[in-house]
Amino acid sequence: MIINGKELAKEAEASIASLVSAMPRPPRLDVILVGSNPASSIYVRMKEKACKRVGIRSVKHTLPESATEVELLTLISSLNSDSSVDGILVQLPLPKHISESTIISAISPEKDVDGFHPTNMGLLFSGSPSIAPCTPKGVISMLDSIGFSYDGKKAVVVGRSNIVGKPMAVLLLQRNCTVTICHSHTRGLASETRQADLLVVAAGQPKLITAGMVKQGAVVIDVGVNRTADGLVGDVDFDAVSKKASAITPVPGGVGPMTVAMLMGNTLEAAKRRVKDAGI
Ligand code: NDP
Repeated sequence: MIINGKELAKEAEASIASLVSAMPRPPRLDVILVGSNPASSIYVRMKEKACKRVGIRSVKHTLPESATEVELLTLISSLNSDSSVDGILVQLPLPKHISESTIISAISPEKDVDGFHPTNMGLLFSGSPSIAPCTPKGVISMLDSIGFSYDGKKAVVVGRSNIVGKPMAVLLLQRNCTVTICHSHTRGLASETRQADLLVVAAGQPKLITAGMVKQGAVVIDVGVNRTADGLVGDVDFDAVSKKASAITPVPGGVGPMTVAMLMGNTLEAAKRRVKDAGI
């Protein structure tokens, strides 16, 4: 089975759009883009388009590559205190002279729709997620859509970044999977991945996972997005692995669209909470 992320994202966006239309005012998402990284510009455009589809108001702030950390912090501070702003997203990566952790920590946790703020991460890790990161949340939604039964399953997550690997592992742990996290220092990656009932790969290495590294009948989720001479490819050798997997996500059209849909969901949630807190 090929898990169609595009189709699932469409369904998720349709239900988000109907909830958005029931809000007293449209939620507002402010997206900050620093510099002109072509991939980042594409991602920001995709997010703006999704906002339009579901009825969220998006406001884009573009800063030059030369912008200072202080300038970015000043902008975030003004958005934090602006009551018309529900969500703030700083597109990563940032130029090298700006500390990503300083910037992420400066966003008000209530408006951190990416779920990367240490407060939101802490809540996620302690078992009471407030705003969970969009990509792992999208993966869970895809697994739910195929009726994946998590309990007692052996899950292997390849990658340990704060935005994908670590929160992914925690969400699976909370669903009673037995989770192994692999990374670039893992010895014998193939012997780990071959044990997986569920394999989630977020390494950013084209075709890292070959058929020989996958157990017959495993569910394989490919988070990787790699721009190569052959176009966009994932971290999994799709053609070979799809013959062994019971379910697999394609790249493109897999996890990517779900990530964007989950961002819309997180923005709606943040707006709902703010409306409730304001007693509207
Ligand atoms: P990072 O570069 O932050 O992390 C990559 C992780 O993979 C690291 O933990 C690294 O290990 C590990 N890794 C790298 N090479 C190997 C290897 N050969 N064997 C085992 N582990 C390895 O990337 P991200 O987590 O941000 O993203 C991962 C991929 O997912 C990228 O392709 C990215 O484009 C994509 N992505 C896709 C999204 C979507 O919506 N579809 C959203 C976000 C990301 P170590 O820690 O030791 O360095």
